[in-house]
Amino acid sequence: MRVLLLGGGGREHALALGLAGDPGVEGLIAAPGNPGIADVAELRQVDATDPAAVAALAVEVGADLVVIGPEAPLVAGVADAVRAKGIPAFGPSAEAARLEGSKAFAKEVMAAAGVPTARAYTCEDAESTARALDEFGAPYVVKNDGLAAGKGVVVTEDRAAALAHARECGRVVVEEYLAGPEVSLFVVTDGEAAVPLLPAQDFKRVGDGDTGPNTGGMGAYTPLPWAPTGLVDEVMANTVHPTLAEMRRRGTPFAGLLYVGLAITAAGPRVIEFNARFGDPETQVVLALLETPLGGLLHAAATGTLADHPPLRWRGGAAVTVVLAAQNYPGTPRTGDVITGADQPGIIHAGTRRGPDGELLSSGGRVLCATATGADLAAARDAAYALVDGVTLAGAHHRSDIATGAVEGRITIPG
Ligand code: AMP
Repeated sequence: MRVLLLGGGGREHALALGLAGDPGVEGLIAAPGNPGIADVAELRQVDATDPAAVAALAVEVGADLVVIGPEAPLVAGVADAVRAKGIPAFGPSAEAARLEGSKAFAKEVMAAAGVPTARAYTCEDAESTARALDEFGAPYVVKNDGLAAGKGVVVTEDRAAALAHARECGRVVVEEYLAGPEVSLFVVTDGEAAVPLLPAQDFKRVGDGDTGPNTGGMGAYTPLPWAPTGLVDEVMANTVHPTLAEMRRRGTPFAGLLYVGLAITAAGPRVIEFNARFGDPETQVVLALLETPLGGLLHAAATGTLADHPPLRWRGGAAVTVVLAAQNYPGTPRTGDVITGADQPGIIHAGTRRGPDGELLSSGGRVLCATATGADLAAARDAAYALVDGVTLAGAHHRSDIATGAVEGRITIPG
C-alpha cells in the first residue's frame, strides 16, 4: 500500500513512524512533512487546505490511502475531494469535521445524542454572554465557536476577562466549569464500528504545576494508572456510539479519528470537546505503544471494514513525551536557532526545518517532542527526560513535571 500523509508537525512525525513501521506500507509520501519525517518518507509540497491540489497529488503519487493529520484540511473538505477520486481517506468529511470546527455544532450533536457534557449556551452578544457567565459562576469558561488551533478557550476567575474574550471572538460557547483530571481518548472509526486507543493525558499549560498560559500541549503520557476501571467502556457506550449514531442519522457519518476530550468529574466522565483528528502530543505516546500495524488499521477505517479488523495489540509498559518549546512560546516564538542532538531515536520533530547547509533549525513554537517508552511510567518519564538532556537549542524551555503527578499517585478524581 502507498500512503500519502498530510501535515508536518509532531503528530505527523509520530504517524509517519507508525506507518513506516507497518510491513503493509511499501511507499510513504508526506506533504509537507518535516526533517524528521524525511528520514522515513518522500516529501512533497502541497497547499494542504486546497482540496483539489491534495486530491491531484494523491492521484499523482498513486496513493492507496491518504491520512490527514491536521484539522484545517478536514474542515476545508480535503477528505471529500480525495474520496471523490476513488481513493480511501482517513479523516472525516467537511460536514462531519464540524464536530471540531464548530463548538456550537458539537454541543448540538451532544445534546441530541444525550452525551454527558458541560451545560452550555451559545452567545453572540455581551448581554447573553453576561447572563450565561452569571448563571454558571466562576471559574468562567468561554470558547471561540470556530477553529482556533486549540487556543480559542479561556478559563478564568476574572469575569471582565471572560467578557473581553467573548467580545473578541464574536460567537462563543459559554459553559459550566468541569472540575477533575482530563483524559484524551482517541477512537478510530469507519462511521459505525469504533475502536478506542489507549487513553492518554496531555499538559496544556506552559508551566510546571499547570501554571501560565495555554499551549498546544507541552507533554503527554499513557496509560493512566489512576483512571477509573471501565472508563473506556463507559465512554464508548455513553458518548462515542451515541455520537456516531447521531452523525449517521443526520446523513453525515463521522469516519476517521474521533478525539474525545474528557474531564473525570465527581459525577463521572464529561465531554470537554470533540476533535476530528489525532491530538498532539498525545499521538506520540499512544502510537509508541501500539503494536498493531498502523496503516492497516487506518485503511480499514477509511474503507468501512473496521468491524473485520483484528483486535488491537499493545506493547506493555508506558510512554511519555516531553515537548521542547522555543523561547517565548506560547507567545511569538523565537525561530531559526540551531538544534543539536535531535538525531536520537525517540526525538520527534514538531517545528524544525533544514538550513542552507543542511543544519537543523527551529521553525515553530513547539520544536521537538522527546518520546520514550519504559517498563512503567517512572521509567518512561526518566527516559524521556534523558532524551531532552541530550538536545541543545538556545532559549528553549520545557516542563519538568510531565507524568510526575501520575507517577507519584497524586492525581485524584473529585468527590
Ligand atoms: P478545548 O479547546 O475545548 O479542549 O479547551 C481547552 C482546555 O480548556 C481544555 O483542555 C480544558 O483544560 C479547558 N476547558 C475547556 N472547557 C472546560 C470546562 N467546561 N471546564 C473546565 N475546563 C475546561
